Amino acid sequence: MKAIVIGAGVIGAGVAYRLAEAGADVTILEADRVGGGTSATSFAWTNSHGKEPREYHDLNVRGMKAHVALAEEFQGWRWFHPCGSIEWCGETTEDRERQARNVERLKSWDYAIDWITRKELGELEPDIDLGKLGDAPITFCPQEGYVDPVIYAAVMMREAIKRGAKLEQSAKVADLEIRNGAVRGARTKDGSLHEADIVINCAGRWADRVAQDPGLRLPLAPTTGFIVFTPPVATTVTHLVHSPFVNFRPDGAGRLMLHNTDIDDETTLEMTPRPDMPQALAIMRHAAELMPTLKGVKPEAARITARAIPQDGLSAIGPAPRVKGYYFVVTHSGVTLSPYLAKAVTDEIMHNRARPELEKFRPARFFN
Ligand SMILES: Cc1cc2nc3c(=O)[nH]c(=O)nc-3n(C[C@H](O)[C@H](O)[C@H](O)COP(=O)(O)OP(=O)(O)OC[C@H]3O[C@@H](n4cnc5c(N)ncnc54)[C@H](O)[C@@H]3O)c2cc1C
Repeated sequence: MKAIVIGAGVIGAGVAYRLAEAGADVTILEADRVGGGTSATSFAWTNSHGKEPREYHDLNVRGMKAHVALAEEFQGWRWFHPCGSIEWCGETTEDRERQARNVERLKSWDYAIDWITRKELGELEPDIDLGKLGDAPITFCPQEGYVDPVIYAAVMMREAIKRGAKLEQSAKVADLEIRNGAVRGARTKDGSLHEADIVINCAGRWADRVAQDPGLRLPLAPTTGFIVFTPPVATTVTHLVHSPFVNFRPDGAGRLMLHNTDIDDETTLEMTPRPDMPQALAIMRHAAELMPTLKGVKPEAARITARAIPQDGLSAIGPAPRVKGYYFVVTHSGVTLSPYLAKAVTDEIMHNRARPELEKFRPARFFN
């Protein structure tokens, strides 16, 4: 089986590794560099916290379990941090009811989530000023964590290459090569033709641009994401923390990654992200209000990117209709899902075993 994987983010790198492991002759065509797309600017929280419907929740739980298994497979590698996550919400009755409903739903689906006390929060994260929480109920999800996505992609890619895969960087796919109703390869911008039995589109937020035929373009509905990084700071934050005004987690060497969904909406891809932009300063201010040790700290960097989201918000995993030899692996929550999808997709492609848990996510639903 000769396979082309388009894109070397967390999704493409994972798929390339498992395909090469299963004996495929793999070429990865990457327009830029490994892990340099959305994967480089991700909160990278492994979770199934607010994922609905049930099938999507279950898919994400499979992703969480696959990360645990992969960490065991690659003992000694440290891209996965199963630290657990803490959450409390705003003070309106509506916020509290929504949180309670979510906890009940997750418990009824056997998801690991518990209420914790303020004292327990203080023990988990001593830098948080508990006075800022008011009487907010707090939850803890012990099986959630985060990933260093670029390191994950780098290791997956190296393991793929060890198994014979060929990585071509600065190789942007400009179109698919289609003959007699089957995709036979991909043509890069410089005109080179790369022949294959199957082409797997892992191009994330650009997945709708690799084929010139409009009938083969997966419809996407990307949203903008905005992330702020502190310099190394004197805190001991070790968990993911989700609060009404700011979400944060460690990002290595004492840095914190900060995020706020509302502020995402104030940014656009046309903006040049800068650490002194008002949106970055606002997120930093929220973090310092919660953790006095951050007082006076200025953001070190800010990044703006787009989420790879198929039009209905759910993953698009499976063969394209109309042509043979073309397969999509395009999804939000790609960090959570990558190691599971890599295995499941390889199973479908190499062993011709359709995975029932992927049925709801077939791209065919977009191509009537
Ligand atoms: C702000 C933010 C927060 C997020 N938080 C989470 C989270 O907490 N948990 C979670 O699980 N997920 C999260 N996500 C989503 C997750 O980061 C993405 O789903 C994941 O990174 C997508 O990976 P990918 O490999 O599909 O895409 P990418 O990382 O974008 O990789 C696609 C690659 O394809 C290449 N490419 C594109 N077009 C072509 C072409 N024509 N030819 C060749 N190569 C091409 C690109 O250069 C790129 O390297 C978040 C995303 C954002 C933006």
